[in-house]
Amino acid sequence: MTRKISFISLGGTISSKVSSTGASPALDSSDLLSLVNAKIGEVEIVAVPYKPAPSASLTFQELHDIAALVKREIANGSEGVILSQGTDTLEESSFYLDLVHDSDVPVVVTGAMRNADLLGADGPSNILSSILVSLDSESWGMGVLVVMNDEIHTARYVRKTNTSSLSAFTSYPLGPIGWVSEGKIRIVMKPLKRVRVKFPEKESGKKVSLLKVTLSDDLRLLESVETLGYDGLILEAFGGGHMPNWNLDVIKRIAGKMPVILCSRTGSGDVLISTYGFPGSERDLISRGIIPAGDLSGAKARILLKLLLENGYGKDEVLSFVERHFY
Ligand code: GLU
Repeated sequence: MTRKISFISLGGTISSKVSSTGASPALDSSDLLSLVNAKIGEVEIVAVPYKPAPSASLTFQELHDIAALVKREIANGSEGVILSQGTDTLEESSFYLDLVHDSDVPVVVTGAMRNADLLGADGPSNILSSILVSLDSESWGMGVLVVMNDEIHTARYVRKTNTSSLSAFTSYPLGPIGWVSEGKIRIVMKPLKRVRVKFPEKESGKKVSLLKVTLSDDLRLLESVETLGYDGLILEAFGGGHMPNWNLDVIKRIAGKMPVILCSRTGSGDVLISTYGFPGSERDLISRGIIPAGDLSGAKARILLKLLLENGYGKDEVLSFVERHFY
């Protein structure tokens, strides 16, 4: 029986052509599929139309629409959904889609580092690899996978770690869970568990700000978190989860009004919870109502908090969710 998989192109470098003003998205889902020209027996690959855009301009409303579209494709019989998009925000969008993906059907997100007009453009091979991954039985129940440069990553850990290299996507401190070789898929590791969040019925516009702290920052921006109407805050702090010893009263005040999550700007490792005791240390911040985020990056913690807020979670529910799933 013919299997159906869906392909949706959201834009980005993979769909970009070069004009006198520079590269910008031009190719749609069917153009991209025709570049791949994949002849895989007993499989119908359906090109689903979507307006191409640079991923820097993706909005939460669009992510909500895209997640709903993925669900519709699956409800209509797709046994795999592939999304290609700009790589700039892929680590965030794939994590959003992963958190709200409530089926075992594989969803694969891909992109390209070289646009369609460049020599050695990686888009077509990334799409072909994504098709193969989506067809592989080992991909079922894995949530959203990211396929770039013949490597298979989880949406939970993948990050863009280089501006232009073909190997820009990594899952440090882990690695890819599999790879593509000679047209065959090898998945050699599976996550112990998946974290899921209920797909909110609609996007209601909850706003989460992310503040990365730097040496001798006076942190005056914190005050605008209160005045600009944010609903949540991510602090990307030093080391194990440390802030300067000034403005701690402001942080405490904000944490009294909205969930404030503590991440590390180091890029890996758990935010500490029980080591340091100086003002601004992780223990001090936790005592002021800040929620440590395990090893979630700031960008991924922001996606999680956004979805929890859209589901009506208050501060205590966010705390117990994060404790349950990320420690
Ligand atoms: N480097 C990005 C890409 O790989 C630029 C464009 C975008 O993210 O949409 O697609």
